Amino acid sequence: MHAKVATWDCKISRFCLESQETFESTPDMFYMHTFLARNSLPHDKIAPMQPSLEKLRKFFRLEHENGYIDTAIIGGLAKMLDFWEGEARTDGIAEEVIQAVISRLRSYEKLSPEGRAESLKGLWKRIAETYPEAGQKPKTQTPAPRPPRQVEKETPTPKVESAPAPRPAPQQPKPRPVPPPRSESFAGAKTSQTPAALNAELTVLNGVGIANAKSLEKLGMKTLGDMLYYFPRRYEDYTQLKPIKSLMYGEVVTIIGTVQSVHSRPIKGGKSSMQEVIISDGTGALRLSFFNNPWLINKLKSGSAISVSGKIDQYLGRLVMNAPDFEDIEMENLHTNRIVPIYSLTENIAQKWLRKQMSQVTSHWAPAVVDALPDSIRLAARLVSIGEALTQIHFPSSQDRLKLARERLGFDEIFYLQMGVLQQKRDWKSVDGRRFPVSDEWMQSRLATLPFDLTPAQQTALADIRADLDSGKPMNRLVQGDVGSGKTVVAALGTSIVIGAGAQAAIMAPTSILAEQHHRSFVNLLARESGILNESEIRLLVGSTPESEKEDIRLGLMDGTIKIVIGTHALIEDPVVFKDLQFIVIDEQHRFGVEQRAALRNKGSNPHLLVMTATPIPRSLALTVFGDLDISVIDQLPTGRQPINTYVLRPQERERAFTVIRGQVQHGKQAFIVYPLIDESEKIEARAAVDDFEKLSHEIFADLKLGLLHGRMKPAEKDEVMTKFRDKEFDILVSTTVVEVGVDVPNSTVMLIEGADRFGLAQLHQLRGRVGRGSDQSFCLLIPTREDAAENERLQAMSQTNSGFELADLDLKTRGPGEFLGTRQAGFATTLKMANITDVKLIEKAREQAQSLFDRDPYLEQSEHALLKEAFERFWGKGKGDVS
Ligand code: ADP
Ligand code: MG
Repeated sequence: MHAKVATWDCKISRFCLESQETFESTPDMFYMHTFLARNSLPHDKIAPMQPSLEKLRKFFRLEHENGYIDTAIIGGLAKMLDFWEGEARTDGIAEEVIQAVISRLRSYEKLSPEGRAESLKGLWKRIAETYPEAGQKPKTQTPAPRPPRQVEKETPTPKVESAPAPRPAPQQPKPRPVPPPRSESFAGAKTSQTPAALNAELTVLNGVGIANAKSLEKLGMKTLGDMLYYFPRRYEDYTQLKPIKSLMYGEVVTIIGTVQSVHSRPIKGGKSSMQEVIISDGTGALRLSFFNNPWLINKLKSGSAISVSGKIDQYLGRLVMNAPDFEDIEMENLHTNRIVPIYSLTENIAQKWLRKQMSQVTSHWAPAVVDALPDSIRLAARLVSIGEALTQIHFPSSQDRLKLARERLGFDEIFYLQMGVLQQKRDWKSVDGRRFPVSDEWMQSRLATLPFDLTPAQQTALADIRADLDSGKPMNRLVQGDVGSGKTVVAALGTSIVIGAGAQAAIMAPTSILAEQHHRSFVNLLARESGILNESEIRLLVGSTPESEKEDIRLGLMDGTIKIVIGTHALIEDPVVFKDLQFIVIDEQHRFGVEQRAALRNKGSNPHLLVMTATPIPRSLALTVFGDLDISVIDQLPTGRQPINTYVLRPQERERAFTVIRGQVQHGKQAFIVYPLIDESEKIEARAAVDDFEKLSHEIFADLKLGLLHGRMKPAEKDEVMTKFRDKEFDILVSTTVVEVGVDVPNSTVMLIEGADRFGLAQLHQLRGRVGRGSDQSFCLLIPTREDAAENERLQAMSQTNSGFELADLDLKTRGPGEFLGTRQAGFATTLKMANITDVKLIEKAREQAQSLFDRDPYLEQSEHALLKEAFERFWGKGKGDVS
């Protein structure tokens, strides 16, 4: 049993009990998005909802009630994937739906509450397309009212970010599970050159009957070939068990021990509990501590043997493991002295049994798989054969051979992905885009209206954009620039070229604060300073825009009297129609899903697209992940900016931080104080904005003006607070991370971050980027929740560099790129089962090989590539996706 799963289960049932009433009385959005699907089927024909979907809805509703602050599950909604994925497979949920859930939830925590609401709603709508019952109210309830608006256009299924499986027809009540993406790259199946046996049903195996085959199918295995591509979740390496006495702080290990004692004690006045488990292995004892897992008392009996995996931590000078994964061990493995695969399981399938079947299959059939990768490429990339890889991935003879197997299988994934990205780019360039030529004089006169000179890097980016706009092909460009590098003005200048020729532009930002800020900049730049447009031709469309004004904007966009619309997701939710949309800017692109970008793009015909990101990823990775985009990098900050002085303070040094703030305010400057959460609820120790605001405003800074900003406020309230802060009506803004993205108040010089150890590097860097935007010295003060967290590697890195690129490199090394890449990467990660996207060398190798193959044979027409072509098409599925 997986420790964390049970925590959530406890939580589910508790919430069910506590919140039954609220659930019934709250208008429930998670029923409201499938009106058509619901009405097209008679009530009694609709199947009851699958348990895994039911569970999903429970959490979504809870999130909804909590105001989308990612608290429905301890540790964030994404944590539910650990157990949900398996349950969904057990329920036979369509693979495409599973992948959609994974990719949305993975990126969930990074969204603003508004974005989260959108994301969950969109996801539920997607689910209800395949499972009409998800759009159905429980029988006891009256049908939900028709939602005020629905997204009119069906957005194309993105190929990069979701499973490459074909989309099941909506009327199919319960589609058969599609094999997971990894099995799609299986080169053998249905190929004439492949031993027929690989397509054989699993019942051909000794000991697999119809019932077992059914269970295995739930895990995505229908054929022997599928089994070969059902990779272990992890391994137990019994060749190198670590004795407890030689454990070291900070290492991630698996150890085996017997349970000595289990204790549970209440904390926080009985609201929560801590569990302590002591295990020993004869060389020493180790304490495991858990939070809110009272059921452990019954689960872990004294004397039972378990294997425990996790990171060795320290508490009061002694080594501990916090909330490790653990499993009962099979004693016989202990004596095998080899690396043992551990598979994900489902009901009726036992680890030992599956392992035995796998051993049959791999030993007989892995060597028979025909390699789709031509020898020339395989040898050039120094990869082991597919047969060796498939054998070793299941039953590794050594860690070294396992590594080679992983490398080969990972290479395949990136290689196919990269081939696809290259083809997308070629296809993208094959349609025509309208030309927008401008003269140097015209451009100069635009630049002359700016209050500053562009940096050389901005000039280069602008030149790239100008060239794209005059190329006759639709622009598909990413502008990558560190926080504060001045991307907005570049986008505005690009926009001026297009609207100068009478066409329309749409700018989409992830939050209303940001949209409003862009609106102001665009009005300044394109109306007030330069007079190209009237103010009324540049409009703001966000969720809180009054309906009458929205109507006005819709009309203006339709008849072409409005030239630029700037907004949030509202731009795509609203049935906005453009007369002639030719230019689209998407700011902070990692905050949007591919579907959302595609939805906006579909509002024009082959419009030029500019996406912007402050995500500074290393070039090789950018080329792979964004390989279909052209990239401009703004790698310079405007002159006069000073590096932000960053200090890590211990919690007891908080007074010093307050002194810095006070000093800056006395000089007419402003400060941010940012908190990780809005109230104390579940998470211990995190200082909370709302709670502390009282104390800060009445005691510590009683003489100063403080504003409060958090995710539970309505968009209009948030905007009001931000506006007041910008207009210096507040000296200090106390806030949750809603200020994170792009907010520009150059007069603020202090960023104090409480609970700093709870943030990822990317977020810390983004937050820090809110100050240091003027010419004054700015300060970033990081206070972790615990004294010992002050040594935290990430916090120390922050104090050592101001460069987003350096931090990104570090983050990649320590945590993987998920955080820096956002949704797009989340999509990649689900496609890539085996490849480690942090492995820059492997990525580069696969990319080089893909590029050189693409140069030689772009349509894979040569006969020696026939097998490869089949494998490639299977990997990507049929139609063409949108990968912007
Ligand atoms: P980001 O790249 O993070 O989106 P912004 O576009 O918000 O950055 O720009 C940050 C600040 O720098 C804004 O106040 C903007 O007016 C200012 N700025 C942009 N370009 C320049 C420049 N070349 N010289 C001076 N200030 C600039
Ligand atoms: Mg910006």
